[in-house]
Amino acid sequence: MLREVVISVFGLFHPTELDIAPADHRLLEVTCGSTRKQLEGKARKLSLKVGCHVSGTFTLSVPGRIERTFTGHLRVEPGLTALLTLDLESAVAATVAAELPSTTPAAALEAQAIAVRSYFASLPAGRHAYRAFCDTTHCQHIRGAIASDHPAARATKATQGLVLQYQSKILTAMYSAACTGSRQAGVANADGYVYAAVPCNYCQRHPGNTKRLAHRKGLCQAGAADLARTGKTAEEILRHYYPGTRVTSL
Ligand SMILES: [Zn+2]
Ligand SMILES: [Zn+2]
Repeated sequence: MLREVVISVFGLFHPTELDIAPADHRLLEVTCGSTRKQLEGKARKLSLKVGCHVSGTFTLSVPGRIERTFTGHLRVEPGLTALLTLDLESAVAATVAAELPSTTPAAALEAQAIAVRSYFASLPAGRHAYRAFCDTTHCQHIRGAIASDHPAARATKATQGLVLQYQSKILTAMYSAACTGSRQAGVANADGYVYAAVPCNYCQRHPGNTKRLAHRKGLCQAGAADLARTGKTAEEILRHYYPGTRVTSL
């Protein structure tokens, strides 16, 4: 059973330098080979080398390009590949927070959490080297750590361990920002699930939102928020966008 998720972060930037600093004023201990360095306070930066690893809450940056705060375990592999290991539930919460605005109705956040958890849990070998997922839309979008009272964290907790199952397998659940309201039927996914055409009232009313979409499979985030506003539960939303599946516990 998948308990941890490895995310390869900042790969998009092909970093030649990777800096780490403690978040807040906490103490951070970085291990690089046989040496240990203690960093205290935000100003204390360290340039990471291959083989360094660290656990805790820290700010990771590619100088001049991107800076994010994560909580988890980080290790640096050749090519300055930054691998962040999170427990499954933290990875789900961070993805939901990156995918949807915090003002999204709770039932839609919960449906998204179940879809994201299913995606991670269905691919125990990840999709990249080191059994990792990437932090772009190719795998799962992740921006960083979130507070425990963040709506995405609450939705994750409310659905803890729940996944979508199709026949005897966990579904590699796909989702998109908007569908078209008239999805193509019969498009099979790699896991064998056939994404049926389902109506999406929201997108039918707002056809302008659906241009330039990579795919229209699975959960429609705009439609899910709309259904949640009409009082539908997370399970009802999922049943609508993933017909033939059921919600089950890991
Ligand atoms: Zn990827
Ligand atoms: Zn839609």
